[in-house]
Amino acid sequence: PNFLKALPYLDAHKSIYDVLGNYYKEEELKLSFTFQAKYIGMSPWVAPGTFSMISYLEHKYGVFHIEGGLNKVSKVISELIIKKGGEIFLDTPVKEILFEDKKAIGIKLDNGDIIESDSVIINADFSTAMKNLIPEELRNKYSNKNLEKKKYSCSTFMLYIGVDKIYKNIPHHNIIFAKDYKKNVKKISENKSVGGDFSFYIQNPSVTDSTLAPNGKSSVYVLVPVANNNSEIDWELEKDDFTQLLLDKIEKIGEFKGIRDHIEELKIITPNDWEIDYDVYKGAVFNLSHNIMQMLWFRPHNELEGYKNLFLVGGGTHPGSGLPTIYGSAKIVADLIDKKIG
Ligand SMILES: Cc1cc2nc3c(=O)[nH]c(=O)nc-3n(C[C@H](O)[C@H](O)[C@H](O)COP(=O)(O)OP(=O)(O)OC[C@H]3O[C@@H](n4cnc5c(N)ncnc54)[C@H](O)[C@@H]3O)c2cc1C
Repeated sequence: PNFLKALPYLDAHKSIYDVLGNYYKEEELKLSFTFQAKYIGMSPWVAPGTFSMISYLEHKYGVFHIEGGLNKVSKVISELIIKKGGEIFLDTPVKEILFEDKKAIGIKLDNGDIIESDSVIINADFSTAMKNLIPEELRNKYSNKNLEKKKYSCSTFMLYIGVDKIYKNIPHHNIIFAKDYKKNVKKISENKSVGGDFSFYIQNPSVTDSTLAPNGKSSVYVLVPVANNNSEIDWELEKDDFTQLLLDKIEKIGEFKGIRDHIEELKIITPNDWEIDYDVYKGAVFNLSHNIMQMLWFRPHNELEGYKNLFLVGGGTHPGSGLPTIYGSAKIVADLIDKKIG
């Protein structure tokens, strides 16, 4: 009932760009509030207007930084799990979920060990997990063909740079817009290469947090939204040229001039790497797209359809991608299990 009451205010039938038009006339002002659509991996001309709440929240309440980086949230949760008597096994991939009739009865690990359980919760990337962990005949709605047909978010090309100095005059968050931003977003949505005119985000977090690099040094993180692997771009072939092009653009941003001479460490992650090394389906790091037919009730449910003890959390499930919503999915699943078994 609460949701129905909220529905008229959610503007889900309009795009983010259209909703911004209710507030701003100037094109550049509208565009400056659209980049947040990237957080759900979508074009602001397509993403439901509901998500204009993200840029509102950022500007109204600010953006907070966790000392040491976001990984610290997982670290604290893991400490809590252990304190409460749980066990965590790292570097222990799950090979498959085990079933008896229509009930999950546990998991089999890569090393052959079997762990039996009352409930199974899947946190791996949704479509990869469906494909690899559950036999196709046991997946009602999610055959390989149906997974392929779903809409997926964009991917990202990443540079993680360690430099031997701190860029004190560059802010923590920086968004650099393509000259033709709409065309850039369209190319990504149509699974095309972004070419030479693209938008990107640079984080210079060492101006806020001195724990991220050794004394006097800093870490710089660069994220370029690009097409997911439906694009069939050969990133192994492209990645070195693209890195140089990106560094050329970074060198043009104020104090970053000459950054090449200060690089001590450089790690590149391409959409291909997201898919192969990190098990992200099609490298779509913001997961299933948030178009209306894949949102809310239409998103994979937290209790997998057809099962009473097989649960889903993470960006590809209800309520959606991004850390706050993902923690929301974990809370929903914890409550569901609590209700079932106390
Ligand atoms: C570059 C980048 C920047 C982002 N920035 C933000 C941001 O600023 N704010 C925000 O809210 N979100 C951001 N996101 C999105 C957010 O990080 C993701 O939506 C989120 O991490 C997904 O969480 P998850 O729990 O669904 O999956 P994951 O974080 O991918 O966790 C799944 C885990 O399951 C493990 N796994 C997979 N298969 C198996 C198996 N068979 N056995 C055992 N383990 C397995 C994986 O190794 C992985 O550790 C960003 C994403 C990227 C890539």
